[in-house]
Amino acid sequence: MFTTHYLKKIHAWFFPHTCLLCQNPGNNNLDLCLGCLKELPILPQTCPRCAKTLSTIPGLICGNCLQSPPPYEKAFSLFSYEKPITKLIMELKFHERLVNANLLGQLMAHAIQNDWYQNQPLPELIIPVPLHPKRLQERGYNQAIELARPISKILKIPLNSAACRRSKHTLAQARLPAKSRAQNIKNAFTIHQDFSGRHVAVIDDVTTTGHSITEFTKTLKSAGNPKIDVWVCARAVHSK
Ligand SMILES: [Zn+2]
Ligand SMILES: [Zn+2]
Repeated sequence: MFTTHYLKKIHAWFFPHTCLLCQNPGNNNLDLCLGCLKELPILPQTCPRCAKTLSTIPGLICGNCLQSPPPYEKAFSLFSYEKPITKLIMELKFHERLVNANLLGQLMAHAIQNDWYQNQPLPELIIPVPLHPKRLQERGYNQAIELARPISKILKIPLNSAACRRSKHTLAQARLPAKSRAQNIKNAFTIHQDFSGRHVAVIDDVTTTGHSITEFTKTLKSAGNPKIDVWVCARAVHSK
C-alpha cells in the first residue's frame, strides 16, 4: 500500500514543480502554472528612469525625472504591487516562504534578460538593499538577497551583499505617512567599498514612495560614482 509520503514522492517525480498559487503542476520549470502566470499583474510601460510614472510612449522620461533626476540611471519594476504578488511577497517577508523569492527572482531574471535590456549591457554586480542587523536577526534573512540569488545565478552576475549596510534602525517605512518617509530613511545606509567605474544593479522587493531606494542609491553613488540601475520586484502604483 502506498503511503501519502510515497505518493507525494511519485507526484514530485513526474511534476517536479507545483504552482505556489493554486497547487497545479508548474509550467516551464517554474513553481507556477500557465494559468496563474497569465494572471500576474505585470506593470505596464513606465518612465525608463524611475519606473514610477506610467507612460504611453516608449522611452519617454517623466517630468519629475527631467526636473530632478534620481541618483540612478534607470529603474525597472516587474509587477504592480497587487494580488497575488502582495501575497507572495508578504509570505516571503513574514512567513519564511523562501520558495516565493526563488520564483519571483526567476521571473525577474527572465524579464531582465528578454525585455528590460534588449541589446544593452547588463550591470556587472548586484547589490541588494540591506536590512538593519536587528531586523535581519528578527527575520533571519534579507528578502532582497533571497530575490537576488536566483537572478545572480541565472544571469551569472555576482552578488555583493557585504559592502553596504543599513546603519540606522528606522521605523518600517510602510507604517509611516508618505511625508515622513524621506526623513525616516535619511542617512540610514553606509557603504564600505569604492564602486568607481562599476555598473551595478540595486535590487529590492517592493517600493511604494521610493524613498528607501533613493536614499540608498544616493549613498551608493557617493562611493565612487558608480552607474546604478534599480531592479524592483513590485511597485505600488497608486501612491506618489
Ligand atoms: Zn496556478
Ligand atoms: Zn521618471
